[in-house]
Amino acid sequence: AFGVAFGGGNASAMTGYPNLLRPLDLGFIRLPNRLVMGSMHMGLEGEPGGLERLAAFYAERASAGLIVTGAFAPNALGTLKGDKAIMATREDAVAHRVIPQAVHAAGGRIALQLVHSGRYGFHKEIVAPSAIRAPINPVVPRALETHEIEAIIDDFATATALAREAGYDGVEIMGSEGYLITQFLCRRTNKREDEWGGPLENRMRFAREIVRRARAKVGRDFLLLFRFSALDLVEEGSTGEEVVALAKALQQDGVDILSSGIGWHEARIPTISQAVPTAAFAFAVRRVRQAVKIPVVASNRIHDVDAAERLLAEGFCDFVAMARPFLADGEIAAKVARGDKAGINPCIACNQACLDHYFGSESTSCVVNPRAGRETELRLSPAPTPKRIAVVGGGPGGLMAAAVAAERGHKVTLYESAYRLGGQFNLASAVPGKAVFADSVAYFAERLRRAEATIRLGAQVHGPGDLDGCDAIVLAAGVHPRKPAIPGIDRSNVVGYGDVLSGRAEVGEHVVILGAGGIGFDVALHLVERDADAQTDPQAFAELWGIDTGAATIGGLRPEGPAKPAAPHTITMLKRSPGRFGA
Ligand code: SF4
Repeated sequence: AFGVAFGGGNASAMTGYPNLLRPLDLGFIRLPNRLVMGSMHMGLEGEPGGLERLAAFYAERASAGLIVTGAFAPNALGTLKGDKAIMATREDAVAHRVIPQAVHAAGGRIALQLVHSGRYGFHKEIVAPSAIRAPINPVVPRALETHEIEAIIDDFATATALAREAGYDGVEIMGSEGYLITQFLCRRTNKREDEWGGPLENRMRFAREIVRRARAKVGRDFLLLFRFSALDLVEEGSTGEEVVALAKALQQDGVDILSSGIGWHEARIPTISQAVPTAAFAFAVRRVRQAVKIPVVASNRIHDVDAAERLLAEGFCDFVAMARPFLADGEIAAKVARGDKAGINPCIACNQACLDHYFGSESTSCVVNPRAGRETELRLSPAPTPKRIAVVGGGPGGLMAAAVAAERGHKVTLYESAYRLGGQFNLASAVPGKAVFADSVAYFAERLRRAEATIRLGAQVHGPGDLDGCDAIVLAAGVHPRKPAIPGIDRSNVVGYGDVLSGRAEVGEHVVILGAGGIGFDVALHLVERDADAQTDPQAFAELWGIDTGAATIGGLRPEGPAKPAAPHTITMLKRSPGRFGA
């Protein structure tokens, strides 16, 4: 369907996404649309059999204009976790062939991301321009010797050539988010007094040499992307002028596409969480786009295809990168081409099965699409013997089970005791930044409609007798909050989180929240920020967090820091367990 859609000249005009669906021909390669699947570490990169699983994962996402893989290091010291996620030898290139082969067979394009972690590596042998510890890593890095810097540059060039040998269409050199290349670029981490430190020209030398030597190794007809940091959001980061100067220099050195990233991993300002409004950082990408002639990719919290289309139409960028949305739905680009926005499974930016899994050393998946990363195991095939299935509960679990069962050909009836679908997701959607949870419910309701499942709202199910007759029952009746035995818990001024989030209870000025996990914090946010604009308005977000949208300040941070708005409640949070709040 993807190939057919792009074969016809009028397809893009018909769908209302003419900019997203406009191909880009670079002469040696044609990218069929302007949607890039941004790099994500899947936790499979260095695992036995991981490349085969990644091949299946990427192949299902081949309708993107370009896929960028998760991080692979050009040498052992540059790995993120001291694992085998490396592109350094002939054997590595041969092992990788399965990935580009699978993507090409599915009609896609794919670039390998090359990252040297520098002081962000979570292993003992980490290196950096200067021996300065990262606030998010207990290990102090060793400062690189000059000959080691030269060797790393050569390793990047070799890895680029090996990527070509493996069959990739290009590489993305990772120069943002605070990894080694960024560590060279900024005074924050580069205190060197040799030709690799000091003035900008010296600090840029590492990035520029990598690009030049990589280009020299592979020639002109291999895609070279460089991911630059459009906004560092840390003290002693780059100014806007320095970012533009780097972009112009890289263009001169042979980069085909400038991809962008926002914020170092150690930045205190949220860059991808639910608190960030749509396209909040696009202003910084436009600044670069206006200064160079090569295509520029915008990223970070552009999770909606309408927003992507608008950014392209208004000249903020030439491509839009989405990462997590491609976990939630691998077929975004194909669905855009079909004009099927209602069929796109929205990422709810919860980070629970993607980032939390990765940092917890589990492989990455997705809360709203458990197949992500498990394409070789979870194959949803038509049921050999269709059954009558009753699903009790219309929250996210019940909705997912009912949709999959109905799509496999079972006759499904879903029973929900409330008069609307969604369960806990409806409560969650009242939390600032979580309105997208309602979109998730709407998406699953649409899937049920298309699969012709029957939905019974207001249905109280006390036992099998309340069901219409079925061969199997899926119990997805949800959770009830515990009521701890605390003296006074039955008093009229004690209410549950559901009462607050649903609006059944109004609370006064002074509030005590018992429980400091995710829901405790959600309730606090709901009370403090529910009337604020910072989750929807990029300007209000910038003011709240102290982001300078001009070009002059260092790291994009306002000297006066974040705003301190008056809050409608004073809140005290208490927890009964030991350990950190929010742990
Ligand atoms: Fe998005 Fe949550 Fe899925 Fe991660 S787990 S991709 S944040 S919906």
